[in-house]
Amino acid sequence: MQAQELKSSFTKRYIIAISLIALLSSGAYYVLNLALKASDSTALVVNISGKQRMLSQRIASYSQQYYLRVYAKGTHSDSEAIRVKLLAAINEMALANRALSSGNLKEGIRVELSPAIHSLYYGDTLLKARVEEYLVLARHLSSEQSQHEAINLLGQILELSDPLLNDLNTAVIQYQKEGEENISAINHLESMVWLVTLMTLLLEVIFIFQPMANKIKELFQEVMWEQENLEQQISMRTMSLEHSNLKLMQLASHDPLTGLKNRLNMERDLEELILQYEKNHLPYAVLMLDIDWFKKINDNYGHDAGDFVLCEISKIMLESVRVQDSVYRAGGEEFVIIFNRITREQAIEKAESIRLGVQNHLFIFSDEEVQCTISGGLYHPDILKSSSVQGVLKLADNALYEAKHSGRNTIVEAIYKKVEQKE
Ligand code: GH3
Ligand code: MG
Ligand code: MG
Repeated sequence: MQAQELKSSFTKRYIIAISLIALLSSGAYYVLNLALKASDSTALVVNISGKQRMLSQRIASYSQQYYLRVYAKGTHSDSEAIRVKLLAAINEMALANRALSSGNLKEGIRVELSPAIHSLYYGDTLLKARVEEYLVLARHLSSEQSQHEAINLLGQILELSDPLLNDLNTAVIQYQKEGEENISAINHLESMVWLVTLMTLLLEVIFIFQPMANKIKELFQEVMWEQENLEQQISMRTMSLEHSNLKLMQLASHDPLTGLKNRLNMERDLEELILQYEKNHLPYAVLMLDIDWFKKINDNYGHDAGDFVLCEISKIMLESVRVQDSVYRAGGEEFVIIFNRITREQAIEKAESIRLGVQNHLFIFSDEEVQCTISGGLYHPDILKSSSVQGVLKLADNALYEAKHSGRNTIVEAIYKKVEQKE
Protein backbone atom coordinates (compact mmCIF):
# COMPACT_ATOMS: atom_id res chain seq x y z
CA MET A 1 0.00 0.00 0.00
CA GLN A 2 1.28 3.44 -0.91
CA ALA A 3 2.21 5.76 1.96
CA GLN A 4 -0.25 8.38 0.67
CA GLU A 5 -3.12 5.86 0.53
CA LEU A 6 -2.29 4.64 4.01
CA LYS A 7 -2.20 8.17 5.35
CA SER A 8 -5.60 9.05 3.87
CA SER A 9 -7.12 5.75 5.11
CA PHE A 10 -5.85 6.41 8.65
CA THR A 11 -6.98 10.04 8.51
CA LYS A 12 -10.47 8.96 7.42
CA ARG A 13 -10.72 6.47 10.26
CA TYR A 14 -9.52 9.05 12.75
CA ILE A 15 -11.99 11.64 11.51
CA ILE A 16 -14.88 9.17 11.79
CA ALA A 17 -13.81 8.07 15.28
CA ILE A 18 -13.29 11.61 16.53
CA SER A 19 -16.55 12.88 14.95
CA LEU A 20 -18.50 10.11 16.67
CA ILE A 21 -16.88 10.95 20.00
CA ALA A 22 -17.60 14.67 19.44
CA LEU A 23 -21.23 13.85 18.57
CA LEU A 24 -21.66 11.74 21.67
CA SER A 25 -20.09 14.28 23.99
CA SER A 26 -22.35 16.98 22.50
CA GLY A 27 -25.33 14.69 23.11
CA ALA A 28 -24.20 14.07 26.69
CA TYR A 29 -23.70 17.81 27.20
CA TYR A 30 -27.19 18.54 25.82
CA VAL A 31 -28.81 15.91 28.03
CA LEU A 32 -26.94 17.14 31.08
CA ASN A 33 -28.07 20.68 30.35
CA LEU A 34 -31.62 19.45 29.93
CA ALA A 35 -31.41 17.64 33.25
CA LEU A 36 -30.09 20.74 35.01
CA LYS A 37 -32.80 22.93 33.48
CA ALA A 38 -35.48 20.38 34.31
CA SER A 39 -34.32 20.13 37.88
CA ASP A 40 -34.11 23.96 38.13
CA SER A 41 -37.59 24.53 36.72
CA THR A 42 -39.07 21.67 38.77
CA ALA A 43 -37.62 23.17 41.92
CA LEU A 44 -38.91 26.62 40.94
CA VAL A 45 -42.43 25.54 39.98
CA VAL A 46 -42.77 23.48 43.15
CA ASN A 47 -41.46 26.40 45.14
CA ILE A 48 -43.89 28.93 43.57
CA SER A 49 -46.89 26.63 43.85
CA GLY A 50 -46.03 25.86 47.49
CA LYS A 51 -45.71 29.56 48.18
CA GLN A 52 -49.05 30.21 46.52
CA ARG A 53 -50.63 27.62 48.79
CA MET A 54 -49.09 29.31 51.78
CA LEU A 55 -50.14 32.77 50.49
CA SER A 56 -53.76 31.71 50.14
CA GLN A 57 -53.78 30.81 53.82
CA ARG A 58 -51.93 33.94 54.76
CA ILE A 59 -54.46 36.10 52.87
CA ALA A 60 -57.34 34.37 54.69
CA SER A 61 -55.57 34.94 57.99
CA TYR A 62 -54.64 38.60 57.25
CA SER A 63 -58.21 39.26 56.02
CA GLN A 64 -59.56 37.99 59.34
CA GLN A 65 -57.01 39.97 61.38
CA TYR A 66 -57.68 43.07 59.36
CA TYR A 67 -61.43 42.81 59.83
CA LEU A 68 -61.03 42.24 63.57
CA ARG A 69 -58.67 45.18 64.00
CA VAL A 70 -60.77 47.59 61.95
CA TYR A 71 -64.30 46.59 62.94
CA ALA A 72 -64.58 44.20 65.82
CA LYS A 73 -62.31 45.96 68.35
CA GLY A 74 -63.24 49.37 67.07
CA THR A 75 -59.64 50.49 67.08
CA HIS A 76 -57.58 51.28 64.02
CA SER A 77 -54.35 51.13 65.98
CA ASP A 78 -52.27 48.61 63.89
CA SER A 79 -54.80 47.82 61.15
CA GLU A 80 -52.67 49.65 58.60
CA ALA A 81 -49.72 47.35 59.17
CA ILE A 82 -51.95 44.29 58.61
CA ARG A 83 -53.44 45.92 55.51
CA VAL A 84 -49.97 46.44 54.06
CA LYS A 85 -49.12 42.80 54.74
CA LEU A 86 -52.43 41.71 53.19
CA LEU A 87 -51.84 43.77 50.06
CA ALA A 88 -48.28 42.44 49.78
CA ALA A 89 -49.58 38.87 50.04
CA ILE A 90 -52.30 39.63 47.44
CA ASN A 91 -49.74 41.05 44.99
CA GLU A 92 -47.39 38.15 45.53
CA MET A 93 -50.15 35.63 45.01
CA ALA A 94 -51.35 37.46 41.88
CA LEU A 95 -47.85 37.23 40.44
CA ALA A 96 -47.56 33.56 41.36
CA ASN A 97 -50.97 32.87 39.81
CA ARG A 98 -49.92 34.56 36.59
CA ALA A 99 -46.64 32.66 36.47
CA LEU A 100 -48.13 29.28 37.19
CA SER A 101 -51.12 29.64 34.86
CA SER A 102 -48.97 30.83 31.93
CA GLY A 103 -45.87 28.70 32.51
CA ASN A 104 -43.55 31.78 32.44
CA LEU A 105 -42.00 31.20 35.84
CA LYS A 106 -39.48 34.02 35.55
CA GLU A 107 -37.24 35.72 33.04
CA GLY A 108 -35.74 32.92 30.91
CA ILE A 109 -37.46 30.03 32.64
CA ARG A 110 -40.57 28.71 31.03
CA VAL A 111 -42.41 25.44 31.51
CA GLU A 112 -45.00 23.85 29.31
CA LEU A 113 -48.28 23.36 31.15
CA SER A 114 -49.13 19.69 31.22
CA PRO A 115 -52.74 18.71 30.34
CA ALA A 116 -53.38 17.96 34.02
CA ILE A 117 -52.11 21.37 35.17
CA HIS A 118 -53.86 23.11 32.29
CA SER A 119 -57.12 21.45 33.25
CA LEU A 120 -56.59 22.48 36.86
CA TYR A 121 -56.15 26.12 35.94
CA TYR A 122 -58.52 26.43 32.99
CA GLY A 123 -60.74 23.29 33.13
CA ASP A 124 -63.55 22.47 35.53
CA THR A 125 -61.49 23.39 38.58
CA LEU A 126 -61.00 26.92 37.19
CA LEU A 127 -58.12 27.46 39.58
CA LYS A 128 -56.81 30.56 37.84
CA ALA A 129 -60.16 32.31 37.85
CA ARG A 130 -60.88 31.26 41.44
CA VAL A 131 -57.53 32.59 42.65
CA GLU A 132 -58.25 35.87 40.82
CA GLU A 133 -61.68 36.03 42.38
CA TYR A 134 -60.17 35.27 45.81
CA LEU A 135 -57.67 38.09 45.35
CA VAL A 136 -60.35 40.53 44.15
CA LEU A 137 -62.38 39.81 47.30
CA ALA A 138 -59.32 40.29 49.53
CA ARG A 139 -58.40 43.52 47.75
CA HIS A 140 -61.97 44.81 48.20
CA LEU A 141 -61.84 43.92 51.88
CA SER A 142 -58.64 45.92 52.30
CA SER A 143 -60.34 49.04 50.92
CA GLU A 144 -63.89 48.57 52.23
CA GLN A 145 -65.38 51.14 54.65
CA SER A 146 -68.69 49.51 55.52
CA GLN A 147 -68.66 46.84 58.19
CA HIS A 148 -71.57 45.07 56.63
CA GLU A 149 -69.88 44.80 53.28
CA ALA A 150 -66.62 43.87 55.00
CA ILE A 151 -68.14 40.98 56.98
CA ASN A 152 -69.78 39.83 53.76
CA LEU A 153 -66.43 39.90 51.92
CA LEU A 154 -64.66 38.13 54.79
CA GLY A 155 -67.36 35.46 54.78
CA GLN A 156 -66.83 34.87 51.06
CA ILE A 157 -63.05 34.82 51.47
CA LEU A 158 -63.20 32.26 54.27
CA GLU A 159 -65.71 30.23 52.35
CA LEU A 160 -63.41 30.14 49.25
CA SER A 161 -60.26 29.63 51.30
CA ASP A 162 -60.50 25.93 52.18
CA PRO A 163 -61.49 24.50 48.76
CA LEU A 164 -58.90 26.85 47.17
CA LEU A 165 -56.24 25.59 49.55
CA ASN A 166 -57.25 22.08 48.67
CA ASP A 167 -56.94 22.67 44.91
CA LEU A 168 -53.72 24.62 45.32
CA ASN A 169 -52.39 21.65 47.25
CA THR A 170 -53.47 19.36 44.39
CA ALA A 171 -51.54 21.64 42.01
CA VAL A 172 -48.41 21.44 44.21
CA ILE A 173 -48.62 17.65 44.29
CA GLN A 174 -49.17 17.55 40.51
CA TYR A 175 -46.19 19.85 39.88
CA GLN A 176 -44.04 17.69 42.13
CA LYS A 177 -45.16 14.50 40.42
CA GLU A 178 -44.57 15.89 36.93
CA GLY A 179 -41.17 17.28 37.92
CA GLU A 180 -40.09 13.92 39.28
CA GLU A 181 -41.37 12.17 36.13
CA ASN A 182 -39.51 14.67 34.00
CA ILE A 183 -36.25 14.19 35.90
CA SER A 184 -36.60 10.43 35.82
CA ALA A 185 -37.17 10.55 32.02
CA ILE A 186 -34.04 12.65 31.64
CA ASN A 187 -32.12 10.28 33.89
CA HIS A 188 -33.27 7.54 31.61
CA LEU A 189 -32.04 9.49 28.62
CA GLU A 190 -28.70 10.03 30.37
CA SER A 191 -28.32 6.31 30.90
CA MET A 192 -29.14 5.76 27.24
CA VAL A 193 -26.50 8.28 26.16
CA TRP A 194 -23.98 6.59 28.46
CA LEU A 195 -24.86 3.20 27.01
CA VAL A 196 -24.69 4.46 23.43
CA THR A 197 -21.31 6.07 24.22
CA LEU A 198 -19.94 2.81 25.56
CA MET A 199 -21.33 0.88 22.59
CA THR A 200 -19.89 3.38 20.12
CA LEU A 201 -16.47 3.24 21.79
CA LEU A 202 -16.61 -0.55 21.65
CA LEU A 203 -17.61 -0.51 17.97
CA GLU A 204 -14.85 2.01 17.27
CA VAL A 205 -12.37 -0.34 18.87
CA ILE A 206 -13.68 -3.28 16.82
CA PHE A 207 -14.23 -1.60 13.48
CA ILE A 208 -11.78 1.31 13.48
CA PHE A 209 -8.87 0.90 15.89
CA GLN A 210 -8.46 -2.88 15.71
CA PRO A 211 -8.26 -2.96 11.88
CA MET A 212 -5.88 0.00 12.05
CA ALA A 213 -3.62 -1.83 14.52
CA ASN A 214 -3.78 -4.95 12.32
CA LYS A 215 -2.89 -2.91 9.26
CA ILE A 216 0.09 -1.40 11.05
CA LYS A 217 1.19 -4.86 12.19
CA GLU A 218 0.84 -6.21 8.64
CA LEU A 219 2.86 -3.35 7.22
CA PHE A 220 5.50 -3.75 9.88
CA GLN A 221 5.77 -7.45 9.02
CA GLU A 222 5.98 -6.66 5.32
CA VAL A 223 8.80 -4.20 6.00
CA MET A 224 10.56 -6.78 8.19
CA TRP A 225 10.24 -9.43 5.46
CA GLU A 226 11.49 -7.04 2.84
CA GLN A 227 14.41 -6.16 5.07
CA GLU A 228 15.19 -9.83 5.66
CA ASN A 229 14.92 -10.47 1.94
CA LEU A 230 17.24 -7.57 1.26
CA GLU A 231 19.71 -8.77 3.87
CA GLN A 232 19.64 -12.24 2.27
CA GLN A 233 20.22 -10.77 -1.16
CA ILE A 234 23.08 -8.67 0.19
CA SER A 235 24.68 -11.65 1.91
CA MET A 236 24.29 -13.75 -1.26
CA ARG A 237 25.85 -10.98 -3.33
CA THR A 238 28.62 -10.62 -0.78
CA MET A 239 29.26 -14.36 -0.99
CA SER A 240 29.28 -14.26 -4.77
CA LEU A 241 31.62 -11.23 -4.66
CA GLU A 242 33.92 -13.07 -2.27
CA HIS A 243 33.85 -16.04 -4.61
CA SER A 244 34.66 -13.81 -7.59
CA ASN A 245 37.44 -12.19 -5.60
CA LEU A 246 38.90 -15.59 -4.78
CA LYS A 247 38.68 -16.52 -8.46
CA LEU A 248 40.34 -13.26 -9.45
CA MET A 249 43.07 -13.81 -6.90
CA GLN A 250 43.55 -17.32 -8.22
CA LEU A 251 43.69 -15.98 -11.78
CA ALA A 252 46.10 -13.25 -10.81
CA SER A 253 48.44 -15.57 -8.92
CA HIS A 254 48.25 -18.78 -10.98
CA ASP A 255 49.03 -19.82 -14.52
CA PRO A 256 45.80 -20.84 -16.28
CA LEU A 257 47.39 -23.53 -18.48
CA THR A 258 49.30 -25.57 -15.91
CA GLY A 259 47.61 -24.37 -12.70
CA LEU A 260 51.06 -23.60 -11.24
CA LYS A 261 51.75 -20.45 -9.26
CA ASN A 262 53.05 -17.57 -11.39
CA ARG A 263 56.18 -15.45 -11.32
CA LEU A 264 54.68 -12.83 -8.99
CA ASN A 265 54.10 -15.50 -6.34
CA MET A 266 57.54 -16.90 -6.89
CA GLU A 267 59.27 -13.57 -6.26
CA ARG A 268 57.21 -12.97 -3.13
CA ASP A 269 57.92 -16.44 -1.71
CA LEU A 270 61.59 -16.16 -2.58
CA GLU A 271 61.88 -12.85 -0.77
CA GLU A 272 60.48 -14.49 2.35
CA LEU A 273 62.95 -17.37 2.14
CA ILE A 274 65.90 -15.01 1.64
CA LEU A 275 64.80 -13.19 4.81
CA GLN A 276 64.47 -16.43 6.75
CA TYR A 277 67.93 -17.46 5.59
CA GLU A 278 69.41 -14.10 6.66
CA LYS A 279 67.68 -14.22 10.05
CA ASN A 280 67.71 -17.89 11.02
CA HIS A 281 69.99 -19.45 8.44
CA LEU A 282 67.19 -21.70 7.20
CA PRO A 283 68.61 -23.23 3.98
CA TYR A 284 66.73 -23.18 0.68
CA ALA A 285 67.43 -23.73 -3.01
CA VAL A 286 66.18 -22.25 -6.27
CA LEU A 287 66.07 -24.42 -9.38
CA MET A 288 65.43 -22.63 -12.68
CA LEU A 289 64.38 -25.01 -15.46
CA ASP A 290 63.90 -24.54 -19.22
CA ILE A 291 62.64 -27.05 -21.77
CA ASP A 292 65.21 -27.93 -24.38
CA TRP A 293 64.42 -27.17 -27.99
CA PHE A 294 60.84 -26.49 -27.10
CA LYS A 295 60.30 -24.41 -30.20
CA LYS A 296 60.95 -27.53 -32.26
CA ILE A 297 58.24 -29.42 -30.39
CA ASN A 298 55.80 -26.67 -31.29
CA ASP A 299 57.01 -26.64 -34.86
CA ASN A 300 56.99 -30.40 -35.32
CA TYR A 301 53.86 -31.42 -33.43
CA GLY A 302 51.87 -28.24 -33.16
CA HIS A 303 51.17 -25.71 -30.43
CA ASP A 304 48.72 -28.00 -28.65
CA ALA A 305 51.40 -30.63 -28.32
CA GLY A 306 53.63 -27.92 -26.81
CA ASP A 307 50.89 -27.11 -24.30
CA PHE A 308 50.49 -30.79 -23.52
CA VAL A 309 54.22 -31.09 -22.82
CA LEU A 310 54.11 -28.02 -20.57
CA CYS A 311 51.30 -29.63 -18.52
CA GLU A 312 53.00 -33.02 -18.35
CA ILE A 313 56.28 -31.53 -17.16
CA SER A 314 54.33 -29.50 -14.54
CA LYS A 315 52.84 -32.74 -13.20
CA ILE A 316 56.25 -34.45 -13.08
CA MET A 317 57.66 -31.52 -11.09
CA LEU A 318 54.69 -31.40 -8.67
CA GLU A 319 54.94 -35.13 -8.06
CA SER A 320 58.67 -34.88 -7.42
CA VAL A 321 58.73 -32.08 -4.85
CA ARG A 322 58.03 -32.25 -1.09
CA VAL A 323 55.12 -30.55 0.67
CA GLN A 324 57.24 -27.61 1.78
CA ASP A 325 58.50 -26.98 -1.80
CA SER A 326 56.77 -24.92 -4.52
CA VAL A 327 56.68 -25.07 -8.31
CA TYR A 328 56.15 -21.93 -10.44
CA ARG A 329 55.77 -21.22 -14.11
CA ALA A 330 58.18 -18.32 -14.55
CA GLY A 331 57.09 -17.63 -18.14
CA GLY A 332 56.97 -19.40 -21.55
CA GLU A 333 58.65 -22.80 -21.14
CA GLU A 334 60.58 -21.74 -18.06
CA PHE A 335 59.87 -23.04 -14.55
CA VAL A 336 61.23 -22.34 -11.07
CA ILE A 337 61.23 -24.74 -8.12
CA ILE A 338 61.90 -23.37 -4.66
CA PHE A 339 63.02 -25.97 -2.16
CA ASN A 340 62.42 -24.94 1.42
CA ARG A 341 64.79 -26.13 4.17
CA ILE A 342 67.06 -28.20 2.02
CA THR A 343 70.80 -28.84 1.98
CA ARG A 344 72.83 -28.25 -1.12
CA GLU A 345 73.32 -31.98 -1.60
CA GLN A 346 69.64 -32.75 -1.26
CA ALA A 347 68.86 -29.96 -3.74
CA ILE A 348 71.27 -31.36 -6.32
CA GLU A 349 69.75 -34.77 -5.87
CA LYS A 350 66.20 -33.44 -6.30
CA ALA A 351 67.13 -31.40 -9.39
CA GLU A 352 68.82 -34.37 -10.96
CA SER A 353 65.85 -36.64 -10.26
CA ILE A 354 63.45 -34.16 -11.88
CA ARG A 355 65.68 -33.83 -14.94
CA LEU A 356 65.77 -37.62 -15.22
CA GLY A 357 62.04 -37.86 -14.61
CA VAL A 358 61.41 -35.64 -17.67
CA GLN A 359 64.00 -37.41 -19.76
CA ASN A 360 62.48 -40.80 -19.04
CA HIS A 361 58.87 -39.71 -19.34
CA LEU A 362 56.89 -40.94 -22.30
CA PHE A 363 55.15 -37.96 -23.85
CA ILE A 364 52.40 -39.29 -26.15
CA PHE A 365 50.38 -36.67 -27.96
CA SER A 366 47.87 -37.70 -30.67
CA ASP A 367 49.38 -41.15 -30.77
CA GLU A 368 52.79 -39.67 -31.40
CA GLU A 369 55.75 -39.97 -29.07
CA VAL A 370 57.41 -36.67 -28.28
CA GLN A 371 60.95 -36.56 -26.97
CA CYS A 372 61.68 -33.89 -24.38
CA THR A 373 64.41 -32.92 -21.92
CA ILE A 374 65.05 -30.02 -19.59
CA SER A 375 68.09 -28.01 -18.46
CA GLY A 376 68.41 -26.36 -15.07
CA GLY A 377 70.38 -23.80 -13.09
CA LEU A 378 70.54 -24.49 -9.36
CA TYR A 379 71.17 -21.88 -6.72
CA HIS A 380 71.93 -22.64 -3.05
CA PRO A 381 72.90 -19.79 -0.66
CA ASP A 382 75.48 -21.90 1.13
CA ILE A 383 77.58 -21.85 -2.04
CA LEU A 384 76.97 -18.41 -3.47
CA LYS A 385 75.21 -15.82 -1.39
CA SER A 386 72.88 -13.15 -2.68
CA SER A 387 70.49 -11.11 -0.55
CA SER A 388 68.10 -9.95 -3.29
CA VAL A 389 65.44 -11.78 -5.28
CA GLN A 390 66.78 -10.47 -8.57
CA GLY A 391 70.33 -11.41 -7.54
CA VAL A 392 69.34 -14.99 -6.72
CA LEU A 393 67.33 -15.33 -9.95
CA LYS A 394 70.16 -13.89 -11.97
CA LEU A 395 72.63 -16.42 -10.50
CA ALA A 396 70.21 -19.30 -11.20
CA ASP A 397 69.61 -17.97 -14.72
CA ASN A 398 73.37 -17.75 -15.38
CA ALA A 399 73.72 -21.37 -14.27
CA LEU A 400 70.87 -22.33 -16.61
CA TYR A 401 72.55 -20.49 -19.45
CA GLU A 402 75.67 -22.49 -18.68
CA ALA A 403 73.65 -25.73 -18.76
CA LYS A 404 72.29 -24.86 -22.19
CA HIS A 405 75.73 -24.11 -23.46
CA SER A 406 77.16 -27.30 -22.10
CA GLY A 407 74.81 -29.32 -24.26
CA ARG A 408 71.38 -29.22 -22.52
CA ASN A 409 69.57 -31.95 -20.51
CA THR A 410 71.77 -31.08 -17.58
CA ILE A 411 71.77 -29.22 -14.24
CA VAL A 412 74.44 -26.63 -13.46
CA GLU A 413 75.02 -25.23 -9.99
CA ALA A 414 75.41 -21.50 -9.54
CA ILE A 415 79.13 -21.71 -9.09
CA TYR A 416 79.46 -22.63 -12.69
CA LYS A 417 80.25 -26.07 -11.58
CA LYS A 418 78.62 -28.68 -13.63
CA VAL A 419 76.69 -31.20 -11.60
CA GLU A 420 77.88 -34.68 -12.18
CA GLN A 421 75.46 -36.58 -14.34
CA LYS A 422 74.37 -39.92 -13.12
CA GLU A 423 73.25 -41.13 -16.49
P1 GH3 B 1 66.39 -23.70 -25.85
O1 GH3 B 1 66.75 -25.10 -25.73
O2 GH3 B 1 67.56 -22.82 -26.19
O3 GH3 B 1 65.62 -23.20 -24.77
O4 GH3 B 1 65.52 -23.61 -27.18
P2 GH3 B 1 63.97 -23.37 -27.18
O5 GH3 B 1 63.43 -23.63 -28.53
O6 GH3 B 1 63.30 -24.07 -26.11
O7 GH3 B 1 63.89 -21.80 -26.88
P3 GH3 B 1 63.21 -20.64 -27.57
O8 GH3 B 1 63.28 -19.46 -26.68
O9 GH3 B 1 63.84 -20.42 -28.95
O10 GH3 B 1 61.73 -21.05 -27.81
C1 GH3 B 1 60.78 -21.08 -26.80
C2 GH3 B 1 59.48 -21.33 -27.41
O11 GH3 B 1 58.45 -21.61 -26.47
C3 GH3 B 1 58.99 -20.17 -28.23
C4 GH3 B 1 57.50 -20.04 -27.88
O12 GH3 B 1 56.67 -20.04 -29.00
C5 GH3 B 1 57.22 -21.29 -27.05
N1 GH3 B 1 56.25 -21.04 -26.06
C6 GH3 B 1 56.26 -20.14 -25.06
N2 GH3 B 1 55.12 -20.25 -24.30
C7 GH3 B 1 54.37 -21.24 -24.85
C8 GH3 B 1 53.14 -21.81 -24.52
O13 GH3 B 1 52.45 -21.44 -23.57
N3 GH3 B 1 52.66 -22.83 -25.28
C9 GH3 B 1 53.39 -23.30 -26.34
N4 GH3 B 1 52.88 -24.33 -27.06
N5 GH3 B 1 54.55 -22.76 -26.69
C10 GH3 B 1 55.06 -21.74 -25.94
MG1 MG C 1 63.38 -20.41 -22.74
MG1 MG D 1 63.81 -23.68 -24.03
